[in-house]
Amino acid sequence: MEIFKEIEPLRAYLRDHKEAGESIGLVPTMGALHPGHLSLIEASKKETQTTVCSIFINPTQFNNPADLANYPRSMTSDLATLDAAGCHVVFSPSTEEMYSDPKAIHFDFGNLDKKLEGEFRPGHFSGVALAVSKLFNIVRPHIAFFGQKDFQQFKIISKLNEELKFDIALRCIPIFREADGLAMSSRNLRLDADQRQRAVVLYESLLFAKEMIARGKTFDSIINDVRELFKHAGAKLEYLAWTDTENLNPVKSVNQADHSILLIAGYVGDVRLIDNMTIS
Ligand code: AMP
Repeated sequence: MEIFKEIEPLRAYLRDHKEAGESIGLVPTMGALHPGHLSLIEASKKETQTTVCSIFINPTQFNNPADLANYPRSMTSDLATLDAAGCHVVFSPSTEEMYSDPKAIHFDFGNLDKKLEGEFRPGHFSGVALAVSKLFNIVRPHIAFFGQKDFQQFKIISKLNEELKFDIALRCIPIFREADGLAMSSRNLRLDADQRQRAVVLYESLLFAKEMIARGKTFDSIINDVRELFKHAGAKLEYLAWTDTENLNPVKSVNQADHSILLIAGYVGDVRLIDNMTIS
Protein backbone atom coordinates (compact mmCIF):
# COMPACT_ATOMS: atom_id res chain seq x y z
CA MET A 1 0.00 0.00 0.00
CA GLU A 2 1.32 3.44 -0.94
CA ILE A 3 0.82 6.31 1.50
CA PHE A 4 0.89 9.95 0.40
CA LYS A 5 0.63 13.08 2.48
CA GLU A 6 1.32 15.50 -0.35
CA ILE A 7 -0.66 16.25 -3.49
CA GLU A 8 2.04 16.32 -6.16
CA PRO A 9 3.63 12.89 -5.50
CA LEU A 10 0.12 11.37 -5.40
CA ARG A 11 -0.74 13.02 -8.72
CA ALA A 12 2.47 11.71 -10.30
CA TYR A 13 1.78 8.18 -9.02
CA LEU A 14 -1.80 8.22 -10.31
CA ARG A 15 -0.75 9.73 -13.65
CA ASP A 16 1.45 6.67 -14.26
CA HIS A 17 -1.37 4.30 -13.35
CA LYS A 18 -3.89 6.13 -15.55
CA GLU A 19 -1.44 6.12 -18.46
CA ALA A 20 -1.14 2.35 -17.99
CA GLY A 21 -4.91 2.24 -18.56
CA GLU A 22 -5.98 1.61 -14.95
CA SER A 23 -9.29 2.86 -13.60
CA ILE A 24 -9.14 4.75 -10.32
CA GLY A 25 -11.66 4.54 -7.48
CA LEU A 26 -11.83 7.12 -4.69
CA VAL A 27 -13.22 6.50 -1.19
CA PRO A 28 -13.18 9.74 0.83
CA THR A 29 -13.24 9.27 4.63
CA MET A 30 -12.41 11.09 7.83
CA GLY A 31 -10.71 8.04 9.32
CA ALA A 32 -11.58 6.08 12.50
CA LEU A 33 -12.42 3.37 10.01
CA HIS A 34 -15.08 0.71 10.62
CA PRO A 35 -16.62 -2.06 8.47
CA GLY A 36 -18.98 0.49 6.86
CA HIS A 37 -15.97 2.27 5.38
CA LEU A 38 -14.51 -1.07 4.34
CA SER A 39 -17.67 -1.91 2.37
CA LEU A 40 -16.90 1.18 0.27
CA ILE A 41 -13.31 0.01 -0.22
CA GLU A 42 -14.62 -3.42 -1.28
CA ALA A 43 -17.06 -1.83 -3.74
CA SER A 44 -14.24 0.24 -5.21
CA LYS A 45 -11.92 -2.76 -5.51
CA LYS A 46 -14.63 -4.65 -7.38
CA GLU A 47 -15.18 -1.90 -9.93
CA THR A 48 -11.78 -0.27 -10.36
CA GLN A 49 -8.14 -1.30 -10.53
CA THR A 50 -6.59 1.21 -8.14
CA THR A 51 -8.45 2.23 -4.98
CA VAL A 52 -7.47 5.47 -3.28
CA CYS A 53 -8.79 6.02 0.24
CA SER A 54 -8.44 9.53 1.57
CA ILE A 55 -8.30 10.17 5.30
CA PHE A 56 -8.84 13.83 6.03
CA ILE A 57 -10.72 15.36 8.94
CA ASN A 58 -12.01 18.35 7.06
CA PRO A 59 -12.20 21.35 9.40
CA THR A 60 -14.49 23.42 7.16
CA GLN A 61 -17.38 20.97 7.52
CA PHE A 62 -17.47 21.17 11.32
CA ASN A 63 -19.79 23.91 12.50
CA ASN A 64 -19.16 22.89 16.12
CA PRO A 65 -15.50 23.27 17.31
CA ALA A 66 -16.04 20.71 20.12
CA ASP A 67 -17.21 18.14 17.56
CA LEU A 68 -14.01 18.70 15.55
CA ALA A 69 -11.83 18.49 18.68
CA ASN A 70 -13.55 15.29 19.88
CA TYR A 71 -13.72 13.58 16.48
CA PRO A 72 -12.06 10.13 16.86
CA ARG A 73 -8.58 9.82 15.37
CA SER A 74 -6.78 6.49 14.84
CA MET A 75 -4.37 6.87 11.93
CA THR A 76 -2.04 3.99 12.88
CA SER A 77 -4.77 1.37 13.12
CA ASP A 78 -6.58 2.88 10.08
CA LEU A 79 -3.48 2.31 7.95
CA ALA A 80 -3.19 -1.30 9.16
CA THR A 81 -6.93 -1.85 8.44
CA LEU A 82 -6.63 -0.43 4.92
CA ASP A 83 -3.52 -2.46 4.21
CA ALA A 84 -5.26 -5.66 5.36
CA ALA A 85 -8.30 -4.75 3.22
CA GLY A 86 -6.09 -4.55 0.13
CA CYS A 87 -6.52 -0.80 -0.42
CA HIS A 88 -3.87 0.37 -2.88
CA VAL A 89 -3.30 4.01 -1.98
CA VAL A 90 -3.92 6.20 1.08
CA PHE A 91 -3.98 9.98 0.84
CA SER A 92 -3.79 11.62 4.28
CA PRO A 93 -2.94 15.28 3.77
CA SER A 94 -2.48 17.93 6.46
CA THR A 95 -4.97 20.81 6.65
CA GLU A 96 -2.27 23.10 5.23
CA GLU A 97 -1.76 20.82 2.23
CA MET A 98 -5.48 20.99 1.46
CA TYR A 99 -6.20 24.63 2.31
CA SER A 100 -4.22 27.80 1.83
CA ASP A 101 -7.29 29.89 2.68
CA PRO A 102 -10.08 27.83 4.30
CA LYS A 103 -12.52 30.76 4.24
CA ALA A 104 -11.99 31.64 0.56
CA ILE A 105 -14.72 29.61 -1.14
CA HIS A 106 -18.31 28.91 -0.13
CA PHE A 107 -20.93 26.79 -1.82
CA ASP A 108 -24.65 27.45 -1.86
CA PHE A 109 -26.91 24.63 -3.00
CA GLY A 110 -30.11 26.65 -2.70
CA ASN A 111 -32.72 24.70 -0.83
CA LEU A 112 -30.83 21.38 -0.65
CA ASP A 113 -28.18 22.42 1.87
CA LYS A 114 -30.49 24.41 4.16
CA LYS A 115 -32.81 21.67 5.34
CA LEU A 116 -32.40 18.56 7.52
CA GLU A 117 -28.66 18.36 8.33
CA GLY A 118 -28.14 21.82 6.87
CA GLU A 119 -30.65 23.36 9.26
CA PHE A 120 -28.88 21.96 12.30
CA ARG A 121 -25.33 22.24 10.92
CA PRO A 122 -25.11 25.58 9.07
CA GLY A 123 -22.20 25.69 6.62
CA HIS A 124 -21.62 21.95 6.92
CA PHE A 125 -22.38 21.07 3.30
CA SER A 126 -20.38 23.98 1.94
CA GLY A 127 -17.37 22.53 3.76
CA VAL A 128 -18.14 19.01 2.52
CA ALA A 129 -18.48 20.23 -1.07
CA LEU A 130 -15.21 22.14 -0.81
CA ALA A 131 -13.21 19.17 0.49
CA VAL A 132 -14.80 16.75 -1.98
CA SER A 133 -14.13 19.15 -4.89
CA LYS A 134 -10.48 19.31 -3.87
CA LEU A 135 -10.26 15.51 -3.61
CA PHE A 136 -11.99 15.10 -7.00
CA ASN A 137 -9.49 17.53 -8.56
CA ILE A 138 -6.46 15.99 -6.91
CA VAL A 139 -7.31 12.33 -7.56
CA ARG A 140 -9.49 12.70 -10.68
CA PRO A 141 -11.00 9.25 -10.09
CA HIS A 142 -13.18 7.41 -12.59
CA ILE A 143 -15.58 6.38 -9.82
CA ALA A 144 -16.10 7.80 -6.32
CA PHE A 145 -17.80 5.82 -3.57
CA PHE A 146 -19.99 7.27 -0.80
CA GLY A 147 -22.30 5.81 1.83
CA GLN A 148 -26.08 6.03 1.95
CA LYS A 149 -25.57 6.65 5.66
CA ASP A 150 -25.00 10.31 4.70
CA PHE A 151 -27.82 10.43 2.18
CA GLN A 152 -28.18 14.21 2.01
CA GLN A 153 -24.42 14.47 1.57
CA PHE A 154 -24.68 12.10 -1.40
CA LYS A 155 -27.34 14.32 -2.94
CA ILE A 156 -25.15 17.41 -2.46
CA ILE A 157 -22.14 15.66 -4.02
CA SER A 158 -24.27 14.45 -6.95
CA LYS A 159 -25.32 18.06 -7.56
CA LEU A 160 -21.72 19.24 -7.25
CA ASN A 161 -20.52 16.57 -9.68
CA GLU A 162 -23.22 17.45 -12.19
CA GLU A 163 -22.92 21.24 -12.01
CA LEU A 164 -19.12 21.42 -11.95
CA LYS A 165 -18.86 18.80 -14.72
CA PHE A 166 -16.40 16.61 -12.85
CA ASP A 167 -17.53 13.70 -14.99
CA ILE A 168 -16.98 11.17 -12.22
CA ALA A 169 -19.29 8.18 -11.78
CA LEU A 170 -20.75 8.15 -8.26
CA ARG A 171 -21.85 5.16 -6.22
CA CYS A 172 -24.07 5.17 -3.14
CA ILE A 173 -23.31 2.11 -0.97
CA PRO A 174 -25.93 0.70 1.47
CA ILE A 175 -25.68 1.36 5.21
CA PHE A 176 -23.57 -1.16 7.11
CA ARG A 177 -25.12 -1.88 10.52
CA GLU A 178 -24.15 -3.41 13.87
CA ALA A 179 -25.94 -6.65 14.85
CA ASP A 180 -28.65 -4.68 16.72
CA GLY A 181 -29.23 -2.35 13.75
CA LEU A 182 -27.23 0.70 14.84
CA ALA A 183 -25.67 2.27 11.74
CA MET A 184 -21.90 2.03 11.96
CA SER A 185 -20.30 5.42 12.50
CA SER A 186 -16.94 6.71 13.69
CA ARG A 187 -18.90 8.71 16.27
CA ASN A 188 -20.16 5.46 17.88
CA LEU A 189 -16.68 5.20 19.43
CA ARG A 190 -17.59 8.15 21.62
CA LEU A 191 -20.58 6.34 23.18
CA ASP A 192 -20.09 4.65 26.56
CA ALA A 193 -21.50 1.12 27.02
CA ASP A 194 -24.88 2.37 28.27
CA GLN A 195 -25.21 5.01 25.55
CA ARG A 196 -24.21 2.44 22.94
CA GLN A 197 -27.20 0.29 23.94
CA ARG A 198 -29.56 3.27 23.90
CA ALA A 199 -28.30 4.48 20.51
CA VAL A 200 -30.26 1.74 18.74
CA VAL A 201 -33.29 4.01 19.24
CA LEU A 202 -32.52 5.71 15.90
CA TYR A 203 -32.79 2.46 13.95
CA GLU A 204 -35.80 1.29 15.96
CA SER A 205 -37.54 4.59 15.32
CA LEU A 206 -36.98 4.23 11.57
CA LEU A 207 -38.41 0.69 11.62
CA PHE A 208 -41.35 1.87 13.73
CA ALA A 209 -42.04 4.85 11.43
CA LYS A 210 -41.87 2.68 8.32
CA GLU A 211 -44.35 0.22 9.83
CA MET A 212 -46.72 3.00 10.93
CA ILE A 213 -46.61 4.59 7.47
CA ALA A 214 -47.56 1.20 5.99
CA ARG A 215 -50.48 1.11 8.44
CA GLY A 216 -51.66 4.52 7.24
CA LYS A 217 -50.86 6.57 10.37
CA THR A 218 -50.33 10.31 9.90
CA PHE A 219 -46.71 11.38 9.89
CA ASP A 220 -47.36 14.01 12.59
CA SER A 221 -48.60 11.34 14.98
CA ILE A 222 -45.61 9.15 14.08
CA ILE A 223 -43.22 11.99 14.97
CA ASN A 224 -44.93 12.37 18.35
CA ASP A 225 -44.58 8.64 19.02
CA VAL A 226 -40.91 8.69 17.99
CA ARG A 227 -40.32 11.63 20.30
CA GLU A 228 -41.66 9.41 23.12
CA LEU A 229 -39.39 6.53 22.04
CA PHE A 230 -36.42 8.90 22.28
CA LYS A 231 -37.52 10.18 25.70
CA HIS A 232 -37.84 6.61 26.90
CA ALA A 233 -34.29 5.86 25.64
CA GLY A 234 -32.92 8.98 27.34
CA ALA A 235 -31.99 10.42 23.93
CA LYS A 236 -32.90 13.67 22.18
CA LEU A 237 -34.62 13.66 18.80
CA GLU A 238 -33.45 16.46 16.53
CA TYR A 239 -35.55 15.60 13.49
CA LEU A 240 -37.44 12.78 11.84
CA ALA A 241 -38.29 13.61 8.23
CA TRP A 242 -40.06 11.78 5.43
CA THR A 243 -38.99 13.03 2.01
CA ASP A 244 -38.70 12.09 -1.64
CA THR A 245 -35.30 10.69 -2.61
CA GLU A 246 -34.72 13.22 -5.43
CA ASN A 247 -34.92 16.66 -3.84
CA LEU A 248 -35.54 15.70 -0.22
CA ASN A 249 -38.87 17.52 -0.21
CA PRO A 250 -41.36 16.42 2.47
CA VAL A 251 -43.92 13.79 1.50
CA LYS A 252 -47.12 13.24 3.44
CA SER A 253 -48.48 10.10 1.86
CA VAL A 254 -47.18 6.95 0.20
CA ASN A 255 -48.82 8.02 -3.06
CA GLN A 256 -46.69 11.16 -3.33
CA ALA A 257 -43.40 9.56 -4.34
CA ASP A 258 -42.34 6.26 -5.93
CA HIS A 259 -39.33 6.24 -3.69
CA SER A 260 -39.18 8.04 -0.40
CA ILE A 261 -36.85 8.03 2.56
CA LEU A 262 -37.04 8.47 6.31
CA LEU A 263 -34.17 10.51 7.76
CA ILE A 264 -33.43 10.84 11.45
CA ALA A 265 -30.94 12.70 13.64
CA GLY A 266 -30.57 12.88 17.39
CA TYR A 267 -28.27 13.02 20.38
CA VAL A 268 -27.32 10.19 22.70
CA GLY A 269 -25.45 11.99 25.46
CA ASP A 270 -23.45 14.63 23.59
CA VAL A 271 -22.91 12.41 20.55
CA ARG A 272 -24.92 13.40 17.49
CA LEU A 273 -26.00 10.45 15.32
CA ILE A 274 -27.86 10.17 12.00
CA ASP A 275 -29.53 7.32 10.13
CA ASN A 276 -32.01 6.78 7.29
CA MET A 277 -34.14 4.13 5.61
CA THR A 278 -35.68 4.09 2.15
CA ILE A 279 -39.33 3.25 1.53
CA SER A 280 -40.43 2.05 -1.88
P1 AMP B 1 -16.92 9.52 7.25
O1 AMP B 1 -15.57 8.99 7.56
O2 AMP B 1 -17.89 9.39 8.39
O3 AMP B 1 -16.89 10.89 6.63
O4 AMP B 1 -17.51 8.55 6.14
C1 AMP B 1 -16.81 8.30 4.94
C2 AMP B 1 -17.75 7.61 3.98
O5 AMP B 1 -18.17 6.37 4.53
C3 AMP B 1 -19.01 8.43 3.67
O6 AMP B 1 -19.34 8.32 2.30
C4 AMP B 1 -20.03 7.76 4.55
O7 AMP B 1 -21.37 7.89 4.07
C5 AMP B 1 -19.58 6.31 4.49
N1 AMP B 1 -20.10 5.58 5.65
C6 AMP B 1 -20.06 5.97 6.94
N2 AMP B 1 -20.69 5.07 7.72
C7 AMP B 1 -21.15 4.10 6.90
C8 AMP B 1 -21.90 2.89 7.10
N3 AMP B 1 -22.31 2.51 8.32
N4 AMP B 1 -22.18 2.14 6.03
C9 AMP B 1 -21.77 2.51 4.79
N5 AMP B 1 -21.07 3.63 4.51
C10 AMP B 1 -20.77 4.42 5.57
